[in-house]
Amino acid sequence: MNSTRDILIIGGGIFGAAIAWSLARQGQGHRVMILERGHPAGGATSRAAALVTQMRDDPLLVGLAQETFRAMAVLEAEGEHLGRHAVGALHVASKQGAEALLQRAEAAAGLGIRSQRLSLAEAQVRAPWLRPQSYDCAVLFPDDCYVEPYLLASAYLKAAVRGGAQLMRNADVRHVLHADGHVTGVELSDGQRLDARIVINAAGAWANLLSAELGLPLPMAPVRSQYWITEAAPIFPRDGAIVLIPEIRAYARPEIGGLLFGIRERVPAVVDARQLPADLDGFVFDQADPEGWSNLAEGAESLDAFFPAVRSLGIAHYVTGPSNYTDDGQLIVGASHAIGGLFVATGCNGSGITFSGGVGRLLTEIVLERPPFVPPANCDPARRGAFDPYSPVHMAACAATRAGKSSG
Ligand SMILES: Cc1cc2nc3c(=O)[nH]c(=O)nc-3n(C[C@H](O)[C@H](O)[C@H](O)COP(=O)(O)OP(=O)(O)OC[C@H]3O[C@@H](n4cnc5c(N)ncnc54)[C@H](O)[C@@H]3O)c2cc1C
Repeated sequence: MNSTRDILIIGGGIFGAAIAWSLARQGQGHRVMILERGHPAGGATSRAAALVTQMRDDPLLVGLAQETFRAMAVLEAEGEHLGRHAVGALHVASKQGAEALLQRAEAAAGLGIRSQRLSLAEAQVRAPWLRPQSYDCAVLFPDDCYVEPYLLASAYLKAAVRGGAQLMRNADVRHVLHADGHVTGVELSDGQRLDARIVINAAGAWANLLSAELGLPLPMAPVRSQYWITEAAPIFPRDGAIVLIPEIRAYARPEIGGLLFGIRERVPAVVDARQLPADLDGFVFDQADPEGWSNLAEGAESLDAFFPAVRSLGIAHYVTGPSNYTDDGQLIVGASHAIGGLFVATGCNGSGITFSGGVGRLLTEIVLERPPFVPPANCDPARRGAFDPYSPVHMAACAATRAGKSSG
């Protein structure tokens, strides 16, 4: 029995951690227990490139991202170290893409996002590895940053625990329990039952395994996210900017003297969540191409134009993991409706670090029945009704969202 902890959060990744922290900030910490079967932040969170960028075309998403910046400031003021590098994000575009970039910057200004157009010489200082002839327009979003995702998740968790929340490790949730249309708790894989009036499913790529068996499928699938890190070289200043090149769907940032870069593939690999192991170490999305070389080769020509050194430098590391893409590009945050007391927070669309503070606050407001700070309608977990989340057609639609993504 677990009589005092009546809010159970399944998953100690960045979403579960941020929700716990946000609930604790509302004086609810004593009610919260986070259930994590492995290491907190050991899932997708620890694998993220962890760009935290504000610019999105959808104002809802901008609001969620801006809330993360507020959360980071609070945590840092409490003495937490997030590994934050406030280097700004430099967006570059060719003559053809320049107008669209300037329009996006103008629209972003209307949402309170600062930006400044840089001369090409100024841009080169922040990203000397870019071929100067490859772009005609450069806009810097100076407030954007990247963090150490493990540290940010740990900071949320530590602050939640200071606020009264508890973390239970080795807690592998098998089923969410319910009776008479309301949640009653969870059952762990060792047979233990924990009672609760509120259960929050923040189980990341595994969230559908718990929801779908309740007849509440979530409109998402685990899609491969990946990046490569070059060997160290003097052309990569450690305080260099994040660089986003929307025309070739690429991003980059400094990492331990080298360059971390990703390029979005035309047809991303996607897996059936039921095939995903609990421990992602060594998990391979595509046996035929375990390290994404064919994706790198596919993007090599366009990458070459902006980043000629990519040909001569060695690749020191390859990192991959699942991001939960939805078929409509919206997050999944809210009540399940069909079962009272059941809530979900997932469907990160590759930006869960960026949205963490906003998702934590939004779900807290929904759970506590307070007015939400951003309109949550698009994030409704039940928006698709009944469907098969494991069907190839659905999984391909989720992968297509990643292929068409326009932000970092
Ligand atoms: C290669 C890569 C690059 C990325 N780059 C960025 C980026 O630059 N910026 C950005 O914002 N985002 C980025 N992301 C996305 C980001 O990592 C995710 O959006 C975020 O980590 C999702 O957090 P989560 O808490 O939903 O999932 P997770 O971190 O996976 O956490 C889920 C947790 O639930 C636990 N769990 C699952 N099932 C159970 C169960 N039954 N019982 C108990 N515990 C359970 C797991 O062990 C896990 O710890 C990237 C992702 C990848 C893979």
